[in-house]
Amino acid sequence: MRIMPEAGRAVAGEGFNLEEIIGKIERRELSISRLEEYLGNANLAALARRSYIEKALSVDLSGIASTILDFEELHGYNIENPIGAVQVPVGIVGPLKVLGDYARGEFYVPMATTEGALVASVNRGAKAITSSGGAVVKVLKDGMTRAPLVWTPSVVEAYKFVEWVKANFDNLKSKVTEVTKHGALIDIQPFTVGNLVWIRLVYKTGDAMGMNMATIASDKICSYIEENYDGDARCIALSGNMCTDKKPAIINRLLGRGKYVVAEALIRRDVAENILKAKIELIHYINAAKNLLGSGASGSPSFNAHYANIIAAIFIATGQDAAQVVESSMGITWTELRGDELYISVTLPSLEVGTVGGGTRLRTQREALSIMGVAGGGNPPGVNALKFAEIVAATVLAGELNLLAALASGHLARAHEKLGRGRVRESGGKQLKA
Ligand code: NAP
Repeated sequence: MRIMPEAGRAVAGEGFNLEEIIGKIERRELSISRLEEYLGNANLAALARRSYIEKALSVDLSGIASTILDFEELHGYNIENPIGAVQVPVGIVGPLKVLGDYARGEFYVPMATTEGALVASVNRGAKAITSSGGAVVKVLKDGMTRAPLVWTPSVVEAYKFVEWVKANFDNLKSKVTEVTKHGALIDIQPFTVGNLVWIRLVYKTGDAMGMNMATIASDKICSYIEENYDGDARCIALSGNMCTDKKPAIINRLLGRGKYVVAEALIRRDVAENILKAKIELIHYINAAKNLLGSGASGSPSFNAHYANIIAAIFIATGQDAAQVVESSMGITWTELRGDELYISVTLPSLEVGTVGGGTRLRTQREALSIMGVAGGGNPPGVNALKFAEIVAATVLAGELNLLAALASGHLARAHEKLGRGRVRESGGKQLKA
């Protein structure tokens, strides 16, 4: 039997009869979730599963079939019940000058999106930032969190338990070293409501985004607590939602989760007027009226124009956990007028990124990370993820600056009409100059 890595090209040979497999699935003798086990090969399983769906639903999935993914590599790590892959176009933004502690120089940033005008918009912001000397970036905090929920019978016991946890920090920290080399417990943030306690455990996670690592370490800590605490305290949920993962939450904005990053730049008046076609006074006013007042009036926990656009596109291109766009795109844009310059900053308190683990294992995503020089583990561990976080924050700054400028100059609707509705093609490929 010859098996090509491509999901759509698994070639049936001896011992593999596609029609027979489809027949077994149709008669419910074989579940589509057990094909890997039954066939002993994940690429053949993807082929059989997809072929069954094509036949059962009378759909053509030849596009989804066309992929370089090797499901043998992904099986057990990244996907269950695969049938192929969808493709998302990747555009590039840059050069973007970044002056961080880890990322220093000019970078090109890959963004995967189907939203016309997004890459062009961020690119124009990058040009304005680079022409103004670059974005200064600082990671202020670094720590992935998991918050087990602990039941105690009363507030008296809850108080005693929290004191015990604090006194046993070193023991809990040493337990973590039994399950991970790169993970380390750095803080415990307890919260009590009535008789219940959340212990928000904070970990350094090296170059990994760290959610699996933190979950495994927290499980170890919960076991230690149950075996060693001399009162009545039981971990009733490994995650008690005070972490907070994949939900918008003020706690992440205030205390941080993942990387707490700030990127800032001083944009000269001539750069704003020549590249962004906008007055710095108007950009400043729109930030106050839209991002601050508008967000406040609407009750939003986030005070920015569109961090999620940039974060989602970079996350998809680089194999980050896409659901973490929720908290990673929370943040505040701040502007000040300083004579003939506009100060602009973006603060991202909960940017969750990694360069190892999860979707960063996939070839195309690893290639995307390599464009920024951050693929894989850093030396020392952790520096690649920090460098990546700085580049992401600088790119968010570029996106934010350009959108505010586009609003200030009334260019937004025109850009979307031109780039989002195929008008560039109609006008012979002439690029947006707005
Ligand atoms: P991971 O792949 O689970 O863990 C990283 C692994 O890489 C660890 O085994 C670590 O070894 C190793 N490693 C090698 N070099 C490293 C380096 N330089 N820095 C850090 N680790 C290094 O990745 P993760 O970031 O913890 O988890 C990401 C996955 O979790 C994603 O797929 C995401 O979708 C998923 N996720 C899980 C949950 C959950 O609750 N479990 C929630 C959200 C997302 P050592 O541990 O021995 O150091």
